[in-house]
Amino acid sequence: MKKLAGLCIIILCLGFKNQHLNKDVSFAHFKNRFILAYWKQNPMIATSAGFHNYDSLLPAYSENFRKQYRIFCHTYLDSLHKFDSEKLDASDQLDKTIMYNALTSQLFYQDTFKAWQWDPSVYNIGSALAEILQAHNLKPTEKHTCLMKRIWLIREYYEQAMDNIVNPTLEHIKIAIEQNEGTIAYLKGDFYSEMSRLEQVSYTAGFDLNLYIEVNAVEAIQNYILFLKDVQSKQKNKGKNFRIGKALYDRKFELDIQSNESAKEIYLKALKRKDEMHTKMTAITTQLWPKYFKEAQPKDSLKAIRQLIQKISLKHVSRDLFLQRITAQISQLSNFVKEKNLIYLDPDKPLMVRKTPAYMDGVAGASISAPGPYDKEAETFYNVSTLEKMSSGEAESYLREYNFYALQILNIHEAIPGHYVQLIYANQSPSLIKTLFSNGAMVEGWAVYSERMMLENGYGNNEPEMQLMYCKWHLRSVCNTILDYSVHVLNWDQEKANLLLTKEAFQQQTEANGKWRRVSLTQVQLCSYFSGYTEIYELRERLKQKGDFDQKAFHEKFLSFGSAPVKEIAKIME
Ligand code: ZN
Ligand code: ZN
Repeated sequence: MKKLAGLCIIILCLGFKNQHLNKDVSFAHFKNRFILAYWKQNPMIATSAGFHNYDSLLPAYSENFRKQYRIFCHTYLDSLHKFDSEKLDASDQLDKTIMYNALTSQLFYQDTFKAWQWDPSVYNIGSALAEILQAHNLKPTEKHTCLMKRIWLIREYYEQAMDNIVNPTLEHIKIAIEQNEGTIAYLKGDFYSEMSRLEQVSYTAGFDLNLYIEVNAVEAIQNYILFLKDVQSKQKNKGKNFRIGKALYDRKFELDIQSNESAKEIYLKALKRKDEMHTKMTAITTQLWPKYFKEAQPKDSLKAIRQLIQKISLKHVSRDLFLQRITAQISQLSNFVKEKNLIYLDPDKPLMVRKTPAYMDGVAGASISAPGPYDKEAETFYNVSTLEKMSSGEAESYLREYNFYALQILNIHEAIPGHYVQLIYANQSPSLIKTLFSNGAMVEGWAVYSERMMLENGYGNNEPEMQLMYCKWHLRSVCNTILDYSVHVLNWDQEKANLLLTKEAFQQQTEANGKWRRVSLTQVQLCSYFSGYTEIYELRERLKQKGDFDQKAFHEKFLSFGSAPVKEIAKIME
């Protein structure tokens, strides 16, 4: 009986697939054509996606370039309109929507947002070179040829950049100088030594590699940095305001987040959520206070919460065991997910925990290194920063931040069932469009949702300490949204921002400083965590109310569409 049923399903699927192949074949061709054209237009993005046919190109961002890019976008938008959505299956309809949004975004960024005028940090060739060197689907001779050609174009690239810059913000000048100085250090160091090794393969007599890099790349970047320093000194304190204001913010939010709700609605929800967290934390603090303190609890409840968090943070792993503890937790988390039947985990794709490799170290923390869409079989790594280079004071503060409880939430977010699991599901969805234009709010929202979902299912045995740390962790996402909206739309200054982050979100001063830097350099991205989370959570609750709800099925179905906008997935699921 079982076998027969299985067979029926297979036959049905085949029948369905054939039908849909006939129906969508022209759209599939169209998508392929579009992606190839997109790579040709954006060779640097192509390199970083692992598509190496255009590695030898480095277009200067000139008026002419923008003119033909505008034509490219309009041409594909027009063609896209010709496909009748009703004749496409659900996955292709989603792709159509995503392509439409991507092309509309590109036009907005080029012609309205214009960061290419006021953000000098958009010009940097570091990763455009590094990603060719690191590619594992290229032969050494191919790498060498492409790199020599791309290096040749660097001077023109930066000359155009200097032509483009008009009234930049002081914040973006500063980061552009720092990052381009980093690129020079890379060119003279690791890049040069790896190129020398490649040079031995494609040796040409009398060629001076060092001089070639110096003249074409290093000097071009040095000129750019000098130009920026000159602008900096001429502008003194009168750079463009980095706050983008309501009109641009609302539009950028629509295009980047792609939510059913406006920026303001999400902001208001975040304010409400902050209050809920404070109420919950106050109750936990009153309950736990006598366990940790002899003296009376302070009347100011935010103060009391802060003191208790500091006390609980003292429970942490020792610095030598940091990596080991994370490795052990990954298998504990997998076991929990299986035991509670939360989502299917593919046993063939275990996550490899490793020390963050030197070339990408520098930002403390943990991150997932995933293979690109053209290299799916490559391994996925969980990079964990080692604390080797930290002084004992720095290490202690880091370990308190990622204390016994917070470290577990970090692993839920980054690995299981957060980013890592989402990524495996996304790779199984065969649409390149969804991978290339992945929706950041869906990706971050899933990780933030999975933290809450694990705790709801009893992870951490409902220990109040874990609940309190979860609230603190969650407040970070919530306050990211409040901060971003308040600074860019409501014109907040650093003092107000600082008060929110340290007093109401219980962050350390270093973390708050880092956040201020981030909000002054980016816009909207900080909203992606909370807005994505909210939409996923609300979708689940709506489906629950319809009855006949199965948690595992919901999670698997939700992730099966790839990294598409939550509102589009919701449309299909509802
Ligand atoms: Zn300690
Ligand atoms: Zn994340």
